Amino acid sequence: MEMKMDQIKIENLEVYAAHGVFQEETREGQLFLVDVTLNTDLRQAGLADQLTLSTHYGEVCETINGYLREHTFLLIEAAAEHLAEELLLRFPLVNSLTLELKKPHAPIRLPFSNVSVRIERGWKKVYLGIGSNLGDRKKFLEQGISGLKRNPRVRRVECSQVIETKPYGGVEQGDFYNGAIALETLLSPYELLDYLHQLEAAAGRERKLRWGPRTLDLDILFYEDFISQDAVLTVPHPDMENRVFVLEPLNQLCPWYRHPVTGKSVRQMLEELKKKCGNEEECEKRNETPQRQL
Ligand code: ATP
Ligand code: MG
Ligand code: MG
Repeated sequence: MEMKMDQIKIENLEVYAAHGVFQEETREGQLFLVDVTLNTDLRQAGLADQLTLSTHYGEVCETINGYLREHTFLLIEAAAEHLAEELLLRFPLVNSLTLELKKPHAPIRLPFSNVSVRIERGWKKVYLGIGSNLGDRKKFLEQGISGLKRNPRVRRVECSQVIETKPYGGVEQGDFYNGAIALETLLSPYELLDYLHQLEAAAGRERKLRWGPRTLDLDILFYEDFISQDAVLTVPHPDMENRVFVLEPLNQLCPWYRHPVTGKSVRQMLEELKKKCGNEEECEKRNETPQRQL
């Protein structure tokens, strides 16, 4: 849920560069024009009249020029994609941006005035569930968190308190450490899932038994208001409404955050679940008959 943002706009920045699939293009180069809209909060810079509180548009232009000249791509799609990421990594006050890369002299043997690609990219707000019930549980959670922090496409990692919980799903196994994590990422939902799998594998995770013991489990609970239910990824996480061990830590981070399908806030889901469970004993019983469908 991004607030409506202020913007810095740069229009028709001229860059002479060598992107293209034809030899003449890479040999001789040609004119490219760049439009960028940076979504960023300008309130503080505006009040204080201080450049360090804003994003220096001169530096943005230099970065665009330098990047497009120093790297050569076959496609303007690729040039735009990589340039957008460079800008988002280099200028942290920018939350998201729109970038249009124009190639007015593209090799098309018909009359035309311009061809371009236009993309929107930005930091996405994500909430994860993290759990461990095998080996040095605390160490595995820490390892997972530092793995997230290490990824340059992940920032502002924030963790809930860790709670100890009884296992879920009816398999006889040790108690869990569970927590929730908030972060921002440039990765797509599928790229993020892939990275989470890498972190699980690095922690020696083996998948022998569904809901069985694990060194590290990292689940995507929310990815902005993205909704998916395909073979690879189900987001929001389908079973969160039935899991105190997910909602309790998540409620510490974002009680007001709304489920994009049901419209219920995290706090509301937690309160309803606690009411349904009545007492802890019944809650545990409920955990033995999981609702999740594959
Ligand atoms: P649960 O997802 O019910 O908590 P689990 O975490 O033990 O169970 P895993 O063995 O970690 O399940 O993952 C099983 C598969 O679920 C993975 O291959 C993964 O691709 C898929 N999956 C689907 N949706 C998600 C999601 N939102 N987060 C993480 N994995 C997901
Ligand atoms: Mg899980
Ligand atoms: Mg999982």
